Amino acid sequence: SDPLEHAESLIALIPDFPEPGILFRDISPLLADAAALHTVIEAIVAPFAREFDVVAGVEARGFLIAGAVAAASGVGMVPIRKAGKLPRPAASISYDLEYGQATIEMADDLPRGTRVLLVDDVLATGGTLRAAQRLLEGLGHRTVGTAVLMELSDLGGQDVCGPVHTIFRV
Ligand code: 5GP
Repeated sequence: SDPLEHAESLIALIPDFPEPGILFRDISPLLADAAALHTVIEAIVAPFAREFDVVAGVEARGFLIAGAVAAASGVGMVPIRKAGKLPRPAASISYDLEYGQATIEMADDLPRGTRVLLVDDVLATGGTLRAAQRLLEGLGHRTVGTAVLMELSDLGGQDVCGPVHTIFRV
C-alpha cells in the first residue's frame, strides 16, 4: 500500500484526552515505525530541501520531528521551549490559548538572517506556530517554511500562521 497512507493509519485517535470532548491524535505509533517515520520526514522536508540552514521544533513533540529532520537534512536544530526551561533565553513571547496563556522562549546561537524551517507535530488553532514565527522574526531570522505532520483544518490554523506545509489533513 501507499507508504504515506500506511503512516497515517498508525496515528492513534484517543477520545477525551487531555480533556473531555477532545479527540487527541497520538503520533507515537507512527514515530515508532521505522518506515513510517522515514516517509513522513522525507515528506516534511521535500518542498524546502536545501533551502534552510537550521530546523526549529516546538516543545515537546515538535522536538522529535525537528531532530529527525535535522539528521535527515544535515542541518542543526533549535528547541523552542515553554517558559522557564532554558538557562539563557534570548527572546520570549506570550500568546493566547483556548483557555489562558502560554509563553515560549528560545536561545539564540544562530547568525542573524539564518533560514529556518519551523516544525511541529499538529497544527490546531495556529497560535503556537504563529508565536514561534514571531519569536524567530524578532531575533532577525527568516522562517522559510513552516511544516507539520497533521493539520486539524476545521480550527483555521492556516489563516493564523499559514501557509503551513501539511502531510496529513483532517
Ligand atoms: P495550536 O496552538 O495550533 O492551537 O495547538 C498546537 C499545539 O497543540 C501543538 O504543539 C500540538 O502539539 C498540540 N496539539 C493540539 N491538538 C493536538 C492533537 O490532537 N494531537 C497532538 N499530538 N498534539 C496536539
